[in-house]
Amino acid sequence: MTARGLRLPTGKLLKRPAALGRVNRACSTFQTFAEVLRLPTRRMTKLAFPLQELQRQLTPDSRLDLHVKTFDPSLEDISKAESIFTATGRNRIEYLSSAVRLDHAPDLPHPEVCFIGRSNVGKSSLIKALFSLAPEVEVRVSKKPGHTKKMNFFKVGKYFTLVDMPGYGYRAPEDFVDMVETYLKERRNLMRTFLLVDSVVGIQKTDSIAIGMCEEFALPYVMVLTKIDKSSRGHLLKQVLQIQKFVDTETQGCFPQLFPISSVTYSGIHLLRCFIANITGNLKTDGL
Ligand code: GDP
Repeated sequence: MTARGLRLPTGKLLKRPAALGRVNRACSTFQTFAEVLRLPTRRMTKLAFPLQELQRQLTPDSRLDLHVKTFDPSLEDISKAESIFTATGRNRIEYLSSAVRLDHAPDLPHPEVCFIGRSNVGKSSLIKALFSLAPEVEVRVSKKPGHTKKMNFFKVGKYFTLVDMPGYGYRAPEDFVDMVETYLKERRNLMRTFLLVDSVVGIQKTDSIAIGMCEEFALPYVMVLTKIDKSSRGHLLKQVLQIQKFVDTETQGCFPQLFPISSVTYSGIHLLRCFIANITGNLKTDGL
C-alpha cells in the first residue's frame, strides 16, 4: 500500500495508507483506528469526527455552534490514545471488582472516569466498544429485576480506572440514588463523569436526575449521545441541536462539546478514547 498525506477539514495532516478499494466492509466494525484511516476521506471523517460531519449539514442560518473545535485532536493523537485501550502483556486491562457502597470501592491511586445513564441507553454496549481492543474484559450486565445494582470497576493498565455505574430508571430505589450520589460527591480521584443520552429520544425526565446531580455537586461532566446509527440524518441533527442548546443554556459543569457515538458502527468511539486518555492526564493533545 502506498502512503499518502491527508488534509482534513480541520487542517490536520496525517500520512495514511491508500483507501481500501471496493472491498465489502458492510460487516466490519472498524474497531481500530488504523482501519478507519484506510477509508475514503468522507467516510473516515464521519467515523472519526461525527459531530463535524453533522455540523457540515447545517445551513448558515441554522448554524448553532456545535463547539467542534473545543476538543480537536490530530489523527496521530487519536492513534496514540488507542494504545492505552489495547491490552498487551504490559498493559493489563481488567475487571477489578464491584461495589454497592463507596467504602467497598477499590482504593486506587489512578485517575478515574465513570459512565452513567438510564437503563437501555447503551451504556454496556459503549463500554464494550471502548474495550473492544481488550477482548478478555468482561463487561458485566445485571439487568434482571431484583438483582442488586452495582458499580463495576475496570482497571486500564497504569493509566486510569473506568467505572460502570448502575443504570437508573423511573423506579430507581432510594439506596441506588444514595450510592450514586455518594460516589459522585465523595470519590476523590473522579476526573470526569460521562453522562449518556440516547440520541434517538433526546434528554428524558430520568436523565435530569443525573444532570441534576452533576450540576448540584459542580462536577465536570460530558454528554455522550448514543445510538447515532439508528436515526435519519435529519432527526439526529434536530436532536443534537436541541441537546446542544440545552447544554449551552441550562448547564454549568457540562463540557460544551457533545460526543455522538455508535457502538455498532464505532463512529465517535476513537475520538472518545482519545478524550478519555487526555482528561486522565495520559495524553497531551493540541485539542484541549
Ligand atoms: P444499557 O442498559 O444502558 O447497558 O444498554 P445496552 O448497552 O444493553 O443497550 C440497550 C439496547 O440498545 C440493546 O438492545 C443494544 O443492542 C442497543 N444498542 C446499544 N448501543 C447501540 C448503538 O450504538 N446502536 C444501535 N443501533 N443499538 C444500540
